[in-house]
Amino acid sequence: MNQPEQIDPALGILRHTFGYPAFRGEQAAIVSHVQQGGDALVLMPTGGGKSLCYQIPSLLRAGCGIVVSPLIALMQDQVQALRQLGVRAAYLNSTLEAGEASAIERQLLAGELDLLYVAPERLLNSRCIGLLESSAIALFAIDEAHCVSQWGHDFRPEYRQLTVLHERFPDIPRVALTATADAATRAEIIERLALEDARVFVSSFDRPNIRYTVIEKDNPRKQLLKFIRAHHDGDAGIVYCLSRKKVEETAAWLRTEGISALPYHAGLDAAVRAEHQTRFVRGDGVVMCATVAFGMGIDKPDVRFVAHLDLPKSLEAYYQETGRAGRDGLPSNAWMAYGLQDMVLQREMIEQSQAPDEIKRVERRKLEALLGYAEAPACRRVVLLRYFGEESTPCGNCDMCLTPPETFDAGVAAQQALSTIYRSGQRYGAAHIIDILIGKASAKVIERGHDKLSTFGIGKSLPDAQWNSLLRQLVAQGLLGVTEHGGLILLEACRPVLRGEVSFMARRVRAAAPKAASSVRR
Ligand code: ADP
Ligand code: ZN
Repeated sequence: MNQPEQIDPALGILRHTFGYPAFRGEQAAIVSHVQQGGDALVLMPTGGGKSLCYQIPSLLRAGCGIVVSPLIALMQDQVQALRQLGVRAAYLNSTLEAGEASAIERQLLAGELDLLYVAPERLLNSRCIGLLESSAIALFAIDEAHCVSQWGHDFRPEYRQLTVLHERFPDIPRVALTATADAATRAEIIERLALEDARVFVSSFDRPNIRYTVIEKDNPRKQLLKFIRAHHDGDAGIVYCLSRKKVEETAAWLRTEGISALPYHAGLDAAVRAEHQTRFVRGDGVVMCATVAFGMGIDKPDVRFVAHLDLPKSLEAYYQETGRAGRDGLPSNAWMAYGLQDMVLQREMIEQSQAPDEIKRVERRKLEALLGYAEAPACRRVVLLRYFGEESTPCGNCDMCLTPPETFDAGVAAQQALSTIYRSGQRYGAAHIIDILIGKASAKVIERGHDKLSTFGIGKSLPDAQWNSLLRQLVAQGLLGVTEHGGLILLEACRPVLRGEVSFMARRVRAAAPKAASSVRR
């Protein structure tokens, strides 16, 4: 007699409910661990498939899986998608009317739900905790777990109280999931959510199909247009800008250039936002110009590029934002235009914020790491992955690998720049310092008498752009600092260079930007 083929129940659900043939990466191990009642911390990049890691165990275990998620929009989409698959899913959040909410609570009590998504503030009220205590619970999933951490880029105070889950429900497995966590954040998640005994599952953060490129900001709009026209004609992409105003202007300008661009930021009417989002997700080739308000929870596999016209806040934020490109695994671009001014602006934002000193220190460190990436002298992916604790070898798919930068001994140039900064009183920004170096008698140079400095015109032989780049490299390597008002100042580390005791190797500014990955036509 033939033995019927033994099929693992988790695999059965994956295939029959979700319609996928096989688990990806660590999914199978995570599902099995959680199904057996173990706690887990899952670190998996965006698009890696975190949802199934708690959805399938919720279906396999008795009771309802409770998913804590900070994003209302994401909750609704997930619940809708799950219902279409025949999963008994629901959500509880502030968008529900009292009647609807109590209907869902009744279903939970009656054991009629497989998965319930709950906003953290809702979960933590005593009524809801009481409700959970009277219901059968399969597990708790804490999505976007980095929100618990002040080191993370998205701290949410409500998350702090999620330790309650461990105290009130010690026997129910908890799985915390996040796409962005450096070592400090990881440690804090473990501590705050009492996950000391949890098994940690770390997936590689590499996104090999994304090509990373950082270019010198010169005329950013034109540079962006050129990039889109050359590599992404008709493709869907996201362009991140820092301010709402710039989002609007960039979208309007791209439209006059014949690109179907739409704006997205928190200042737009909710209905307009929703419409633009739908057009982006459903439509072909929409370029969404957006602030960071856009993106979390958007599941569009064929975003072909993510462009940054301004520096993001940190490498985690950059990784998460660029990670929205190429979820389908096809060649995609992460492109950023960046200049000294961006660095100064970000510094000012940190220094002028009302945040307490310890937060400012964290933010400064995060900015340093980001600058280290932007100014990377070699493979960008190596820098990026190292930040997430992963060692790798040069990737062959970033601008630095494809067109290695030329370096030159800039010791003398660095001395000239440093002494100009010193002699002019360590108060001026890069533009003014460069005017002095190249001997440009601007009104301000004349007014301050800087045309009389011995370094006036001393750096004529190098182009502006090279001076700009050199100053940036000096800042990125900690030889120069930037004051609250954007003035360049000398730091201790510059002394040996200033005295000519050591050389300073700098990247030569290149004439043309390297090629970006060409999009795949289908
Ligand atoms: P994350 O939450 O990690 O960003 P999701 O759980 O949203 O990722 O999954 C990203 C995409 O990958 C979704 O479209 C999902 O359906 C798909 N996916 C996840 N796991 C698998 C799998 N084993 N096989 C095929 N597709 C998968
Ligand atoms: Zn590389």
